Amino acid sequence: MRKKIVAGNWKMNTTLDEGLKLASEIVNMVQDEQMNDVNIILFPPFVHLHSIHKLISDVNQVHLGAQNCSENESGAYTGDISVGMIKSVDAEYVLVGHSERRQYHQENDELLGKKVLAALKGGITPIFCCGEPLEIRESDKHFAYVTQQITNSLFDLSEEDFSKIVIAYEPIWAIGTGKTATTEQAQEMHAALRNHIASKYGEKIAQNTSILYGGSCNPTNAPELFACGDVDGGLIGGASLKSRSFMDIIKSF
Ligand code: PGA
Repeated sequence: MRKKIVAGNWKMNTTLDEGLKLASEIVNMVQDEQMNDVNIILFPPFVHLHSIHKLISDVNQVHLGAQNCSENESGAYTGDISVGMIKSVDAEYVLVGHSERRQYHQENDELLGKKVLAALKGGITPIFCCGEPLEIRESDKHFAYVTQQITNSLFDLSEEDFSKIVIAYEPIWAIGTGKTATTEQAQEMHAALRNHIASKYGEKIAQNTSILYGGSCNPTNAPELFACGDVDGGLIGGASLKSRSFMDIIKSF
C-alpha cells in the first residue's frame, strides 16, 4: 500500500514567529480533529526547521522536510545546506527539483540526480518534483517531457533506492496561477508516470511509489484530485500558508 501524503511547501514565506504560529495551529488541529491516515509533511524555510521540529515531535502524523539540499556532503560551498545538516535537525524529507529551483537556480536533471543520491545516502527521503511548462503542454509533448525528466534524474538509481522516493507532478502552468490541472489531466499524467516507472523498475515498485499532484491545489479542488486512482496526495504551496485551508485539503482525502 502506498503512502497518502499532503505536504505544505511554504516557499520563501513566513518569519520565524509566523512559521511557529502556523505550525502550532496545524499541530493543534491535527490533535483536536478526527484525522484520517494521511502523512502530513511541512516544508518551512531552513531557518525554522529546528524550532518547528520541537513543536511537532510528539505528533506522529506530522513530519518535517527541507525545501532544497546541496549535492555535496560538506566543504567550501557558501550558503548551501547539506543533507547531514538537514538530518541533524530531524527533518525526514527534502524537495528536489521544484520548478522554481530549476527556473531561478538553473538546476538541471543531472544536478538533481546528484541531489537525490545525496539525500538517499544521508537517510533523507527525496520528493522529486517534475512537470512541464505551458508551451510543452500546448504542443502536446508533455508526456515525453515529464517522463524524460524522471529518466534523466532517477533511472540510474538501484531498485532499493528508487523504492524510497516520492514523486510530485507539478505542471508549471498550474503553480501559483489559480489554474489547476483537471482531474483527467492529473490522472492521465500520474498513470503515465506510474507506467514509466514500471517499465524500468517493475509493477510492484511502481504500484508502491506515491505520486503527488501540485499546482493551485485548494480545499475546493482537492477532493476530486485526490479521488483519482493514481493521485496519492498533494504538494501544496499557497493554500498551505493558512492552517484552515491546509487542514481542509488534508481532510478531503
Ligand atoms: P501552489 O504551489 O499550490 O501555490 O500552486 C505548489 C508548489 O509550487 O509546490
